[in-house]
Order: sequence, then structure tokens, then C-alpha cells
Amino acid sequence: MGLQEDVREQLIKQFAAEVVEITEQTGNKYYACPTCKRPVAKSDEKCPGCTQALSWKNIRVVEAGPTGPKMATLSFEVPGDFARGDCRKCPLSYIAKTNTENVYECPLSQRANCPLKLA
Ligand SMILES: [Zn+2]
Repeated sequence: MGLQEDVREQLIKQFAAEVVEITEQTGNKYYACPTCKRPVAKSDEKCPGCTQALSWKNIRVVEAGPTGPKMATLSFEVPGDFARGDCRKCPLSYIAKTNTENVYECPLSQRANCPLKLA
């Protein structure tokens, strides 16, 4: 089944896809493969990275997003007696096994420095 998927992918890549022109925040511009986003050289007929067939007729212009980390915020309910750092009562925590015991582990690895804001 994995092989069939490969064949399908190869077939799809034979259809030329429009190259994207990516403008970085620095103002740098480069052409990239629409499938794998790797840079391609002007007039490449195939992406050297993933063999996607490339079309240069209607180059799509794309602004590159910020490259640094972004912040994500999530709101959820916690028990009324929850206090920051109380992983045992935090719905995000999961149980990890150490050699000797099970501990409540923080998926954000912020156990001692709980970043939750309580309303
Ligand atoms: Zn590619």
C-alpha cells in the first residue's frame, strides 16, 4: 500500500505546478517549489528536491511569514481549587513513568514555571 501511495505521489508531481516567488521579510526574493518549498533555480523544469514538475507561467507571489516562534493562546477550564504549577489538577498534564513512579508531566515542559494565567 505504501508503494501505491508513492506511485500516486509521483504521478501527481508530473503535473506542472506553479512556482512560488517568496519574499522574505528582509526583502530577499527567491523562487521555491510549491510542493516542498525548497528553493529552485529559474528555469528548472523539475524541483531538484522532490521532482515536482514546475511551471513558470503564473508565478505566485507569497510573503514569507515571520520566521521566529509565534505565541499561541488556549483557554480551558481548570478545577476551582487549581493553583498554578499544580500539574496533578491540570487537564493538560499527562502521566509519565519514571523508573520508580508515575509523575504528572507538563506537555509544555514548564512544570516548575507554570505559564498558565488564571481568570
Ligand atoms: Zn520540491
